Amino acid sequence: MAIDTDKIVHAVMHGSRIREEKGIIPLFGVYLSMIPVQYYNRISFGFEKKTGSDGSAEKLLVAAGQECGYATFHGVRSSWEWAEVVEPMIEQVEDQIHCFISIAIAFGWGDLVVQELIPGEKLVVHAKSSYEAKGYLDAYGGADTGKCYMLRGVAAAFMDLVYGGDYPDGCFQYAAEETHCQAKGDPYCEFVARKAAR
Ligand SMILES: [Zn+2]
Repeated sequence: MAIDTDKIVHAVMHGSRIREEKGIIPLFGVYLSMIPVQYYNRISFGFEKKTGSDGSAEKLLVAAGQECGYATFHGVRSSWEWAEVVEPMIEQVEDQIHCFISIAIAFGWGDLVVQELIPGEKLVVHAKSSYEAKGYLDAYGGADTGKCYMLRGVAAAFMDLVYGGDYPDGCFQYAAEETHCQAKGDPYCEFVARKAAR
């Protein structure tokens, strides 16, 4: 069975209508919340601006995105919703990555597309509407380097989850670079995840 992105997105969107009284959304085995992208970007890029341009904030923000993606999507693939909606579509291990991408799209993380996947070796993901790139452009007018730290971490996390070994020891087995970014004027953002150098 092919991966039915529409079906996965629909299941997430339908489930996300259920809110606890504090606004928390219990869905696909994890707790989600709605956060305005302007707020997230302001915190994230504000942190980077305040801590200087030596790259340490970038490293921390990418690592946070990777750890978040790793833990969140481990919860997702352990959920009953995954077992019911997604699992029947999975025929080979690589399909998990495509399903993660479909769920990330439904989460509002971007219009992600798997461009290339070499099992265990390399994952290339494209996004044409990254909220981080757009947010950076709106706030600062342009960048010299890629600014989509969260999606960069998440691309590596998806490889960690599928090829990095058992949870929770698989995190940071892979690392991603952002080779193109709309914040730099590129037509899309591109994330390339490979085995991390040790
Ligand atoms: Zn970008």
